[in-house]
Amino acid sequence: MKSFIRSLLFVAAATTAMPAVSADNGEIVVYSARKEHLIKPLFDAYTKKTGVEVKYVTDKAGPLLARLKAEGANTPADMLITVDAGNLWHAAERGVLAEVNSAALQSNVPAHLRDPNNRWFGLSVRARTVVYSTERVKPEELTSYEDLADPKWKGRLCLRTSKKVYNQSLVAMMMERLGKEKAEEVVKGWVANLAVPPFSNDTKTMKAVAAGQCDVAVVNTYYFGRLQKKEPDVKLALFWPNQNDRGVHVNVSGAGITKHAKNAKAATDLLVWLSSDEAQQMFAGLNMEYPANGSVKADPMVAAWGSFKGDEGNIAKAGELQAEAVMLMDRAGYR
Ligand code: FE
Repeated sequence: MKSFIRSLLFVAAATTAMPAVSADNGEIVVYSARKEHLIKPLFDAYTKKTGVEVKYVTDKAGPLLARLKAEGANTPADMLITVDAGNLWHAAERGVLAEVNSAALQSNVPAHLRDPNNRWFGLSVRARTVVYSTERVKPEELTSYEDLADPKWKGRLCLRTSKKVYNQSLVAMMMERLGKEKAEEVVKGWVANLAVPPFSNDTKTMKAVAAGQCDVAVVNTYYFGRLQKKEPDVKLALFWPNQNDRGVHVNVSGAGITKHAKNAKAATDLLVWLSSDEAQQMFAGLNMEYPANGSVKADPMVAAWGSFKGDEGNIAKAGELQAEAVMLMDRAGYR
């Protein structure tokens, strides 16, 4: 109850604090958990091409979903953009997204990167992969996520907190692919190998590896890209695990059309455009991610990390198994 009241208060505060958005003039209104600098250039390009205006509100995924839910049929939002399949799955489960049946979206976005019920579509791909110290680890020593639970990594592993949805999705997909028992064993092994308590974000986790606090970690590729841009000589490299079996864990940022969209047709046109060859390079490139659309090449800096086989299990499972993954990590002592 308390948290319900808190979220209502938050919605009220957010509504007054944010610029008024209205959907009266045929403009598209987007709620985005993807930051402004990652979406504005795309919307500007779309407006330039079509004359259609796109307004947006940015916030974290949780508050945006609470706001959509609280606004119900009165929401001005036509589209929700958010990160992580776990969050997209939640939005769909809570009934705020509409089914979109578009042949273009189905052909632009591979099946494993979209909702089997067509309520959300992945637009960019990030791999949550292994990063290692090039001074203390040889890539031949690395094989899989499971291997990071081996005692040979004792006192050498760094992880981000299990509170972050990225790790919940990683563990959920391991449960799906390895079975729940095996997944729990692996997570327990990780915890036993931790050099220091988990970090609050991927960048701090990588910096701990660079500083010698630990030798290996698991992070999203674009954070590695950001660090590499700032510190080109950083003594870290990415490794692609599980290349002989399921592949690297991949996740998405993506979007759906809201159930109560006032401009559903216009918003769907925008969504299709975002998945197209024309927009995908920019969408992925702005955050050093991989395009979801397989016919589009990654940014050269991203491509330089090498190619890999990604897990092709449907990423919706990351949402479906999220609650169980959280309990599993708790049991395993992963904080
Ligand atoms: Fe992130």
